[in-house]
Amino acid sequence: MSKHCANKHADRIVKPGKTIGLLGGGQLGRMIALAGRAMGYRFVTLDPTPDSPGGQVSDRQIVAAFDDIRGAEQLAQACDLITYEFENVDAAVAEVLESTSFVPQGSRLLSITQNRITEKSTIQSLGIPVAPFRVIASQEELQEAAVELGLPCVMKTATGGYDGKGQRVLRDESELAGAFAALSQPGVQLIVEKYIPFVKELSVIAARSASGEWSTFPVAENIHRENILHMSIVPARISPQVTRRAEQIAGEIAEKLDVVGLIAVEMFLTADDQLYVNELAPRPHNSGHYSMDACVTSQFEQHLRAVCNLPLGSVKLLSPVVMVNLLGDDVEKVAEKLEQLPPACKLHLYGKHESKPKRKMGHINVLADTVEDALSIIDELGIWEKMEG
Ligand code: ATP
Ligand code: MG
Repeated sequence: MSKHCANKHADRIVKPGKTIGLLGGGQLGRMIALAGRAMGYRFVTLDPTPDSPGGQVSDRQIVAAFDDIRGAEQLAQACDLITYEFENVDAAVAEVLESTSFVPQGSRLLSITQNRITEKSTIQSLGIPVAPFRVIASQEELQEAAVELGLPCVMKTATGGYDGKGQRVLRDESELAGAFAALSQPGVQLIVEKYIPFVKELSVIAARSASGEWSTFPVAENIHRENILHMSIVPARISPQVTRRAEQIAGEIAEKLDVVGLIAVEMFLTADDQLYVNELAPRPHNSGHYSMDACVTSQFEQHLRAVCNLPLGSVKLLSPVVMVNLLGDDVEKVAEKLEQLPPACKLHLYGKHESKPKRKMGHINVLADTVEDALSIIDELGIWEKMEG
């Protein structure tokens, strides 16, 4: 942990007993509220779905759309501090919240991370490598970008993408026209990135408070399936040098962007040990769920400590751990095997009413003496296809 330049709210502390407003009542909001209630805070959640995962564990839920100004006003009036669980916060809503309540995270980071173009340009301007990219507005420009960057490359919508939605890997020139037609829509910018032949995907979550104190959680090694996070393995199976560099990159981003709260930094590691930052998320992240059971302080508690300007907690890893996501009917499959779960498996469910294919319903943190043991425990459950390699 270290201290550095402090921001304008350096002396403003929001103490336990105060009420925190959560914009978004999904699983991230729920886990923020669960951690915060243990710390003595009260919560009001705003979410359009009644009895949302976050609403269920809050003192109160305001049922309103995320772009509903009146709902935002109600939330701001009811709370001493506002935080959010997603980055696509409507600009007008952010303005209302900032003018009526206290939003320590501010809106600058939101506007940077809402758009892949500003996000990548900002990271690049800090001297941190990202995949080379081009902004394109027509099929001709896509063709030019594909020549300059080489195939394969990845075309993505600049805004609104998640879990691999709004993106295509382009492997052959014959695919360009079709892919452009599929992704282009009025008012949505497109970006083309060089395909990074990564050997691993990593992420580091950094926390920073207004006082300037910051720290980084242990590096997670992330395995995706069909573009959705399947597992996070901690400690990541990488060299100490790469570990240090990954943590350093996340810390540098947190400091230089004057982050208050959490910032999750997704990275690609190549065979020659280069790291490229892929994406930022200014909030708790799926790849940090392992911290709930394996670290002294969870990412959710750390987020609250950071935004409330309390001292940050220890991020010490207490045990090797593998987090596995429960998507769709994985939950029922796990429910059938509850007796088979070793005692060091911690099951977290999000209270979602409806299970849909690929919907994140919960996760399991498997603690074991080694990550290999944790991976074998997951394999033995027989719910997921075995990991190759
Ligand atoms: P999420 O919200 O789940 O993080 P997303 O839809 O925002 O995903 P990205 O994180 O940009 O999108 O990409 C999803 C996945 O696609 C990455 O985790 C990676 O596996 C692959 N991918 C994306 N960009 C590249 C690239 N330039 N080179 C190689 N693989 C890539
Ligand atoms: Mg991503």
